[in-house]
Amino acid sequence: MPAGQIVKAISGFYYVRSETGEVFQCRARGVFKFEKKKLTPLVGDFVEYDVTGLDEGVVTSVQPRYSELTRPPIANVDQAIVVCSLREPHFQQMPVDRFLVHAEREGLDIVIVMTKRDLIEDESEIERVREIYHAAGYPVVATSIHTGEGLDEVRERLAGKVSVFAGQSGVGKSSLLNQLLPGRRLETGSVSKKLGRGRHTTRQVELLPLDSGGQVADTPGFSQLAFQGMEPTDLGACFPEMRERAAACRFRGCLHLNEPGCEVKEALLNGEIHPDRYQHYETFMNEIKEALLRR
Ligand code: GDP
Ligand code: ZN
Repeated sequence: MPAGQIVKAISGFYYVRSETGEVFQCRARGVFKFEKKKLTPLVGDFVEYDVTGLDEGVVTSVQPRYSELTRPPIANVDQAIVVCSLREPHFQQMPVDRFLVHAEREGLDIVIVMTKRDLIEDESEIERVREIYHAAGYPVVATSIHTGEGLDEVRERLAGKVSVFAGQSGVGKSSLLNQLLPGRRLETGSVSKKLGRGRHTTRQVELLPLDSGGQVADTPGFSQLAFQGMEPTDLGACFPEMRERAAACRFRGCLHLNEPGCEVKEALLNGEIHPDRYQHYETFMNEIKEALLRR
């Protein structure tokens, strides 16, 4: 039976891209289950299908997912590209760290992309951001859609993976996608883009193929998420530079706040953990604790 991946879903139709790249418009047959739970097919799902017409078919089975995002709803994402701008708007670390926690929670590979490189003359600002995230173990790429800088490196990092872009509005996600997907025009920076996302339009997520064999979601991920359902002890694992050290903390379940024998605190004092990253850890920890009190 042929196999493929759902790349788009609209009102009961699933668009399945075959291994050779053709797209079949499919209905789904029967009830799909995974670990006894009923499962509705999602964009990103690997499926088997019967061909019933020239470009039509029926989905007959869905493979277990290895990841699942809710915003946008998409299965089997491999990677998050966390996008921030250096200018217009200025670099803001807090939202970046927030997106990173969400991406870490989903177990995704992560790349940080700094946009609008062309608006910066002072190299030291780029280096400052680079250092913060290199110390955390993340790859960082500086790009410009005007000079083309960094675009090849982004392309390389997208190859062979399913990626979702995340980042604040206006940082240049759509512009970047348009560079990576020639012939595809996502709306950028315009009024109609903002209006188009109004209450009455449901944005459909679609997986778009890249020349390199990778795919990207055309809708950004993780917008406006709170740290829902997170326990205080979950947070440290979402900061790679803490995760490595936490195993050596004296107490199991150490929150790396004021406990004695805390290796994370030690690393912070030694300058091995960036103080701004640690400060955001504390901020997020407080948010998680407050949310727990309200539950
Ligand atoms: P999004 O909301 O993250 O999708 O951001 P957009 O792609 O709509 O971009 C917002 C604005 O930033 C637009 O006016 C773009 O032209 C501009 N922009 C995007 N990338 C760059 C860049 O590399 N350099 C400069 N100078 N402007 C950019
Ligand atoms: Zn600790």
